[in-house]
Amino acid sequence: MDTIEYKIYIDDVVRRVETARLRVSGHHIVKTVAVSKYSTSDEVKKLYEIGQRAFGENKVQDLKEKSNELEELPLEWHFIGNLQKNKINNLLDVNPTLFQALDSLELALELQKKLQARDMTLDCLLQINSANEESKHGFTPETAIESYKKIQSECPNIKLKGVMSIGAHSEDKEVVKKSFLTTYAIYKELPDATICSMGMSGDFELAIECGSNMIRLGSLMFNK
Ligand SMILES: *Cc1c(COP(=O)(O)O)cnc(C)c1O
Repeated sequence: MDTIEYKIYIDDVVRRVETARLRVSGHHIVKTVAVSKYSTSDEVKKLYEIGQRAFGENKVQDLKEKSNELEELPLEWHFIGNLQKNKINNLLDVNPTLFQALDSLELALELQKKLQARDMTLDCLLQINSANEESKHGFTPETAIESYKKIQSECPNIKLKGVMSIGAHSEDKEVVKKSFLTTYAIYKELPDATICSMGMSGDFELAIECGSNMIRLGSLMFNK
């Protein structure tokens, strides 16, 4: 697609997000993070030129490479993947805008140590495994609230801003909806939480309907 065609395509995506958010309320703002994990830096740049500012990666190495290559652009980088303990320092070198996948207490404690040593803070979201799926990382709905508060009190350099979840892996829309509503109910219980990140290319409209205010669109934004 040339730039004009791509712009028309993105306008349509933006319209879909807008329609979904207005169904909730005119006051309900939804932020879109463009997930560039299947895309090149050139493609990120093209989307930037159309107006997109927030991008997400799920591998530290890719985040590092793309943020370096595009250093001159005023982009916001989100890390949305599972973080191995031995990659924490590499992530902190990039200093992302938001780490969306804080998925265990053990990781939080290790992250806290590294942040403290560098005298820096990091905005994070607690990842919720809302349908208790073996294949997914994150806190179970049963332990999420208690863990969130524990991290808030024990990890002062971790600035928790809310929750992130991937919708249940199911063809049944009701099952996916239930997983989003579970995450949203947890979000509502958290004091000071402002971000409820849920919804991807295949289910973002449903996620917004369930209260999401941050969606992570990969294949749809890059037309893959
Ligand atoms: C890949 C990924 C996305 C985007 O997925 P699409 O289906 O391509 O929109 C969103 N969130 C996470 C955590 C991902 O790993």
